[in-house]
Amino acid sequence: MIQAKLQSFTIYESALMRTTSTLIEADDCLILIDPNWLPEEVATIRRDIELKRENKELYVIYTHHHFDHIIGAYAFPDATTIASKAFVEQDSSEQLDEIQKFYEQYYINRPIRKPSIDLVIQQEETLEIGSVPITFFLTPGHDATHMSLMIEPMHLLICGDYGSNIEPPFIEHDSAAYLRSLQTLQTAIYEYEIRWFIPGHGDLCDNRSDMIKRLSEAEEYILALPHERLWSPSWPEHDFFDRVHERNRKMVEQQEADRQARQQDY
Ligand SMILES: [Zn+2]
Repeated sequence: MIQAKLQSFTIYESALMRTTSTLIEADDCLILIDPNWLPEEVATIRRDIELKRENKELYVIYTHHHFDHIIGAYAFPDATTIASKAFVEQDSSEQLDEIQKFYEQYYINRPIRKPSIDLVIQQEETLEIGSVPITFFLTPGHDATHMSLMIEPMHLLICGDYGSNIEPPFIEHDSAAYLRSLQTLQTAIYEYEIRWFIPGHGDLCDNRSDMIKRLSEAEEYILALPHERLWSPSWPEHDFFDRVHERNRKMVEQQEADRQARQQDY
């Protein structure tokens, strides 16, 4: 379904995990971020792109290689693709296995592929994508391959899997990197006077203090780990998130133990 439609961009929302795909329409190109999940949903995005295409160049940006963010890649073989260097280098076979398991369980038959990447982002930089200047921020922590992006003239920040109002942080890479990435996003919100803030899961935010609140709640939650559970009232309580929290807690505990072991080596 369509979560939000503005003049220059549309946010599609999957029925699964409220995952967003964003389509940006410029005069000379179309830019799609993280097409996902279900075949009908991906087909709707593809159809809308054809309706708006008018010979414009198509770009697809992947914020990270998690399977829910690359699952729709098969439908856009004609796009110029963009992702981080870590995305290109990382082995994604586990992610592709996840897609396969999901498809098998629900009798879905669609191609499963990791997208090959044409434009590789190695550092924080601004690139002209068609006529659109896009600033890429490397934001690991949730995942090592993760990047976020910002379009300054639109005051638009696309976070990927940070800044959600409906789920707690998923620390699947590194908690210290996660905290630094939250800082990067907070700084961008102030520096570029962000008006539109799009998370990978959940609702578009158009209020700057709410954007900061989302990021600070994530920060406070991580800083309180592994001993406390500082849960935001906006994150639902259920078994799945209990398991996510337990995984986060163990991750931070393990990283603290590793750090202490390293210090003792000196
Ligand atoms: Zn993710």
